[in-house]
Amino acid sequence: MKDGRGEILLVALGGNALIRKGQVGTIEEQFQNLKIPLAQIARLSDNYRIIITHGNGPQVGNLLLQQECCKEVPRLPLEILVAQTQGQIGYMIESTLDTELMKLGKDEKKLFVSLISYVVVDPNDPSFRNPTKPIGPVYPPEMAPFPFPVVKTRGGYRRVVASPRPITIVEKREIKKLVEMGFIVICCGGGGIPVVREGRGFCGVDAVIDKDLASARLGMEVGVEIFLIATDVPGVALHFGTPREEFLKVIKVSEAMSLLAQGHFESGSMAPKVEACLEFLSWGGKRAIICSVEEIESALEGKAGTEFLRDG
Ligand code: ADP
Ligand code: MG
Repeated sequence: MKDGRGEILLVALGGNALIRKGQVGTIEEQFQNLKIPLAQIARLSDNYRIIITHGNGPQVGNLLLQQECCKEVPRLPLEILVAQTQGQIGYMIESTLDTELMKLGKDEKKLFVSLISYVVVDPNDPSFRNPTKPIGPVYPPEMAPFPFPVVKTRGGYRRVVASPRPITIVEKREIKKLVEMGFIVICCGGGGIPVVREGRGFCGVDAVIDKDLASARLGMEVGVEIFLIATDVPGVALHFGTPREEFLKVIKVSEAMSLLAQGHFESGSMAPKVEACLEFLSWGGKRAIICSVEEIESALEGKAGTEFLRDG
């Protein structure tokens, strides 16, 4: 189908879409890296209506470190830093997408927008009592960022925050409307700004929501048909990182569920991706795929990545 009609495709971009392993992460590097997924997304925009979500791990870590460097300026809480990364990364995705659309002669026809998004979490989520998600830099012992909760690691301390489950995306109606109008929407950056309900309003909290779980939640709330997670490996592997490593072309839902329950997938990286795909399919999503950022188009054609298949 032409002109941005067609199925709704949600592409969740991993941190490596901006900073690759081994890079320091200069702005030039980040812009260069973004061309890889966005050239593909520009081409796909003829056939799909598209939502882009993205991670922010290294970027929010850097902002956190900058908080320590200037004593004259008050420290900003994490919710504000997440909002800042949504702005900075949203801008980088938009301008790269614009260039890629221009190369195809489509920049006049395609509309896109990035949206500050917040995501409601439960103040009683168990992760608030037991924060385990390390964020930002390693501080030498004399600079440990107390009174924040920290974890001791090699070389010093790292801050840890809660990683509560996403309950609902506050801007879901706006996002749905924009997609219906034909906009490519960039949203839920870094898993969204975590907020809890306070009376009729919201209040930001010190936490980081997993971007894959938030993306799956968004997919369900907006009625996405295809959920694709683009990362730095070709897909889901069995015996990952061992000589028996085997990347799967397809994985049955029942098999993925039992492998997940047995702890085969690393928590904080592959486990939430698998969980997000399973949630999306059990809600009624049409397709769920995990692939490398280079192979978004071929994964959609069934020629790369790992696709989850319903049993039966
Ligand atoms: P992203 O920034 O894209 O979310 P993550 O680092 O969170 O990336 O997750 C991708 C990583 O998951 C891969 O680089 C890989 O090291 C790790 N991983 C853990 N278990 C597996 C597995 N079973 N199959 C594939 N990758 C795995
Ligand atoms: Mg991740």
